[in-house]
Amino acid sequence: MSYSYEAPVSQALFDRASLVTPGGVNSPVRAFRAVGGTPRFMVSGTGPYLTDADGREYVDLVCSWGPMILGHSHPAVIEAVQAAVARGTSFGTPGEGEVALAEEIVARVEPVEQVRLVSSGTEATMSAIRLARGFTGRAKVVKFAGCYHGHVDALLAAAGSGVATFGLPDTPGVTGAQAGDTIVLPYNDLEAVHEAFHNHPGEIACVITEASPGNMGVVPPRPGFNEGLKAACARNGALYISDEVMTGFRTSKAGWYGVDGVAPDLMTFGKVMGGGFPAAAFGGRKDIMEYLAPAGPVYQAGTLSGNPVATAAGLAQLRLLDDAAYEKIDAVSAAIQTLLTDALAKEGVAHRLQTASNMFSVFFTDRDVRNYEDAKKQESFRFNAFFHAMLSQGVYLPPSAFESWFVSTAHDERAIERIAAALPSAARAAAEATEVSA
Ligand code: PLP
Repeated sequence: MSYSYEAPVSQALFDRASLVTPGGVNSPVRAFRAVGGTPRFMVSGTGPYLTDADGREYVDLVCSWGPMILGHSHPAVIEAVQAAVARGTSFGTPGEGEVALAEEIVARVEPVEQVRLVSSGTEATMSAIRLARGFTGRAKVVKFAGCYHGHVDALLAAAGSGVATFGLPDTPGVTGAQAGDTIVLPYNDLEAVHEAFHNHPGEIACVITEASPGNMGVVPPRPGFNEGLKAACARNGALYISDEVMTGFRTSKAGWYGVDGVAPDLMTFGKVMGGGFPAAAFGGRKDIMEYLAPAGPVYQAGTLSGNPVATAAGLAQLRLLDDAAYEKIDAVSAAIQTLLTDALAKEGVAHRLQTASNMFSVFFTDRDVRNYEDAKKQESFRFNAFFHAMLSQGVYLPPSAFESWFVSTAHDERAIERIAAALPSAARAAAEATEVSA
């Protein structure tokens, strides 16, 4: 399929970028390689809208891959950031903002007794597994195919997100030694977990899982799966790490923990808690967290950890995320889900809408998707046609069939109407798509 609508300024920027940056982007999925066409270079965002360099406005259903849960340029967040910037941008010392942000996280998420701030979700998961290994004195890590935990060497095997989008089995640059202690299992399969513990007695430091996966598209845990993981870890002296970088403070006030109530030993956070700035965290049981330097022997550090501007943004955003805000986000999400599935059904497009609280995505398949193998069987060429039909009508979706869609409190009636208006022809494009045309 050729994409006839044009974006000359974005194309010119992409050409420039491609000369000085590998693939023209600083994070792979942004390049539109899976869906084809010119990535849109955005210049501003307000509420539920993004404006690109060609002056075209889009309803944003990516929300910076999760962080912008209040929409773009929320006045309270901007004000907090401006006030923080005016006081200075980094001190390399402790500051009150990081204490307040840590207190807010501890207050919201019961299993988190102590928390350490870092700058990205990748750093959070990398540090959490180091801590788990240090605490247990064991080497092996269990992860699930299709789950993405950032680009940590040991966790890139059979990963979701961009690794799934590009169909990469693994990545060069990760040595056998780095990946050798990683055991990759199919998601939602407790039998496989029991077998791994049976085959590696006393060797598994931790099981890390997305609290509810969103990086192979939305594939929620089956009832009892997270409970089963926790129990298997407890029985075998391993730690249960729940990665809430995506779900944290999004799927409820207390993230996915607020939905299923299964208390992990360690948790990781990012995205929403940074208010659009690089702030992330890992935390959990005090006896484990106190193994971290300088309280304990496991080293972990960061020049910009707890940065005053990032913590001000995150705190301002979290403080606005009360029960009413989550009700609003859930309602917006439900409305869009209904419109989406109605439009696809009307065109007779086989699909599965999968949800996890207010996160959702659509798989072009007629079967339930319970793990990464199922997700890969979808007809993603239909998604690509659907994506471009939406984009050409001013709706910005994740440029991959393996990603969650995200909404915000700022998605109002007008934004939803624009989505509703775009859906019928996008559903038709999905219906008419063939593998060759994609
Ligand atoms: N963990 C999960 C569940 C994620 O979704 C992501 C990013 O999408 C990460 C970790 C990595 O976070 P970051 O991109 O901030 O390094």
